[in-house]
Amino acid sequence: MSAPVYLDHHATTPCAPEVVEAMLPWLTQSFGNAASKAHAFGWAAEGAVEAARRQVAALVGASPKEVVFTSGATEANNLAIKGVAEAYAARGRHFVTTTIEHKAVLDTLAWLERGGAQVTRVPVGADGVVRVADIEAALRPDTVLVSVMAANNEVGSLAPLAELGALCRARGVFLHTDAAQAAGKVPLDVEAQRLDLVAFTAHKLYGPKGIGALYVRRRDPQVRLAPQMHGGGHERGLRSGTQPVHQIVGFGRACALAAERMAADAAAQGALRDRLWRALSEVPGARLNGGLEHRLPGNLNVSFEGVEAEALLGGLRGVAAVSSGAACASATLEPSHVLRAIGVSDDRAHCSLRFGLGRATTAEDIDRVASAIADLVAEVRARSV
Ligand SMILES: *Cc1c(COP(=O)(O)O)cnc(C)c1O
Repeated sequence: MSAPVYLDHHATTPCAPEVVEAMLPWLTQSFGNAASKAHAFGWAAEGAVEAARRQVAALVGASPKEVVFTSGATEANNLAIKGVAEAYAARGRHFVTTTIEHKAVLDTLAWLERGGAQVTRVPVGADGVVRVADIEAALRPDTVLVSVMAANNEVGSLAPLAELGALCRARGVFLHTDAAQAAGKVPLDVEAQRLDLVAFTAHKLYGPKGIGALYVRRRDPQVRLAPQMHGGGHERGLRSGTQPVHQIVGFGRACALAAERMAADAAAQGALRDRLWRALSEVPGARLNGGLEHRLPGNLNVSFEGVEAEALLGGLRGVAAVSSGAACASATLEPSHVLRAIGVSDDRAHCSLRFGLGRATTAEDIDRVASAIADLVAEVRARSV
């Protein structure tokens, strides 16, 4: 029997071989501390960190000085939101976000709210896309930050970032976007889209876990942030802690690779995703969650009427690795807040599977998984009558 097909690339991706190869020397012979200014071990490490910073910056049209390395997107989101809240408390304490954000954003804002900030959570359409006019209507004179994710991790919906950027710029409000799922998958440009703060994580784009970054705009306008991690003053004082050189190098290589491959990967995964939906849409009672138009190429989210996701996941073990709802939400049995927010009933949410296709996904994988699901759905239904 062959290994299960991995279709959970929104949860994490494998490291690309090129990434691992780039990382290895920085764990062994070139192990210096990038903050060591007195010798060649330190200089080499610093050079590698700065080269990687250029690679990350280039993925989104930023300047390397605007990239702050963090442990991942959770930390980058925390730094962006708490950092702005603290630095601009005198300007205002109102935040605007959407109902489908990742917990790293929603829980950070809820924490600020408990400290007296105000948060407006703007609903999204059935396609998972927020309307610019709804964000505009939520803005107030004391709004300091709008936080809208670039791509959703469950239904893959893509935000109208350029329009949001223009709106926020015109209104003098910072725009933060969680690009954990979007970076390296769809084009992002901090200038064209007028983004002020962007959170990244390497492990969703074929880099290692435990490393990410926050883009922080330095001019037109400059974003000041209050650091949330104090110490030796690394990363321009915004994020103290010894830089994990091998992780940073891997992240940089992953970004360069993603930039090279983006168009080809998107075309291939989009075609396979469409193939998967064509097959699954033949299954009686199958319904697409979200829309197909503004969607990550590798994402599909489908519910199978009357068939619990847990039953499907059990039957799929050995065939495919997929997820029901969000990986974090599936530890609890709460229906996903994202599916709820796009108007999916709790019953239907419990019958939903999320598929995340990746670079290695093949047409044979798709056909095998689709036919296994069709058989399982029929089997579960036959059992339950
Ligand atoms: C995975 C993910 C995160 C968390 O990233 P980590 O690097 O694992 O902390 C945040 N936001 C979104 C949208 C994600 O998909």
